[in-house]
Amino acid sequence: MRRLHAYLTGRQNLRVDLTWTPEQDAFRDECRTWLQRNVPSEPLPSGDTREGFARHLDWERQLFADRWAVVSWPEAYGGRDASLWEWLIFEEEYYRAGAPQRVTQNGIFLLAPTIFEFGTRTQQDYYLPRMAAAEDLWCQGWSEPNAGSDLASLTSKAVRDEAAGGWRLSGQKTWTTRGAFCTHLFGLFRTDPDSVRHHGLTYFMVPLETEGVTVRGFGRLDGDEGFAEVFFDEAFVSDDLILGAVGSGWSVAMATTSSERGLTLRSPGRFQATAARLVRLVRDRGLDTADPSTREAIVRAWMAAEAYSLYTLADVSGMVEGRSPGFRSSLNKIFWSELDVDLHTAALAVLGGEGELETIGGTENPWLKGYQFSLSGPIYAGTNEIQRNIIAERVLGLPRK
Ligand SMILES: Cc1cc2nc3c(=O)[nH]c(=O)nc-3n(C[C@H](O)[C@H](O)[C@H](O)COP(=O)(O)OP(=O)(O)OC[C@H]3O[C@@H](n4cnc5c(N)ncnc54)[C@H](O)[C@@H]3O)c2cc1C
Repeated sequence: MRRLHAYLTGRQNLRVDLTWTPEQDAFRDECRTWLQRNVPSEPLPSGDTREGFARHLDWERQLFADRWAVVSWPEAYGGRDASLWEWLIFEEEYYRAGAPQRVTQNGIFLLAPTIFEFGTRTQQDYYLPRMAAAEDLWCQGWSEPNAGSDLASLTSKAVRDEAAGGWRLSGQKTWTTRGAFCTHLFGLFRTDPDSVRHHGLTYFMVPLETEGVTVRGFGRLDGDEGFAEVFFDEAFVSDDLILGAVGSGWSVAMATTSSERGLTLRSPGRFQATAARLVRLVRDRGLDTADPSTREAIVRAWMAAEAYSLYTLADVSGMVEGRSPGFRSSLNKIFWSELDVDLHTAALAVLGGEGELETIGGTENPWLKGYQFSLSGPIYAGTNEIQRNIIAERVLGLPRK
């Protein structure tokens, strides 16, 4: 058996086994066969447009019908009880097959792990199957007009309504990805009016059809309409819509952001597939060998995608041994977001002037669209400057300024 004795994080040695078992190989074959038969032959329109979102939902429901929507979840919730390793294999095959982006990702990759960790059994039984089936569509309500990087300064509040047995939400969220198309929002609200910063916050799961909630969609620079502002005007929510304990919203939210920066939102398969497409592009188009910097950028980006995969295998090896990635998710986030920019920048360099065209040969230029989106990677999920602060203080133990 080939084993890589590595690594990592200071004094901790971790053994990473790079060999797949026969069962894992069989699982890969099963994924690959299903994907080959079912992935749409033409790319779907952008999931950040209303029409494209609806088309993506058809795909999500097809995944669910054949139990590929949430492979690592229990069967009772629509999954296959797959291990973390098998989930990685599925992701690798998914992106290799060029399957559509997951418009349910805020629910299944961010909220769901948090519900598994903090939800009551009743909440798990109710929300998880509906999420897997793409019946409830979740968006993320952290940012406010005056609270982005400094999320703890948020001002949206929840006031206790004892008579009604719940809470009245007021305030505004913004930059809510696909908020205009979703049915539910999870977000933080201040429940203790005397609290400051990250104390006294509570994590709510809010149906957007609740009276007093107004969703106003707005467009992105690339023309897609996928963002929304969400306004709360004394919107009533009952106690059972709280995830975790009242007042402990910050730590529950940090579990969600750890999923977003860490493993679940950005598995390596996605970047390895983009790197493979980049290599195909170069093979198809040829490369101006007089330009060594482009050649180097391609090789570096490809190597970085492989390195990210190895890094993730090491992380998962630690996780199955019960080690939490903790603040390593901040390292992860910087790495994948910069890698995505590098992959797309290299592709545009290969395409030259053609890279700036919105369509090539009558179809949307995926490299330009991908490049535009990659530029937002260092911003969403907590900006990379903030991740560097976290690494400096929490991983390296450097003093605060
Ligand atoms: C594509 C995309 C999708 C998004 N989707 C969502 C979503 O679904 N839900 C949601 O809630 N939010 C979402 N956001 C918002 C995102 O979380 C915020 O943009 C991000 O947290 C930064 O906040 P801000 O835009 O207010 O910038 P600011 O916080 O105002 O920061 C401006 C600049 O200052 C820097 N900066 C700020 N503080 C510090 C510091 N202490 N040290 C060093 N540098 C600092 C930042 O890094 C940044 O470069 C999305 C953003 C994008 C781009």
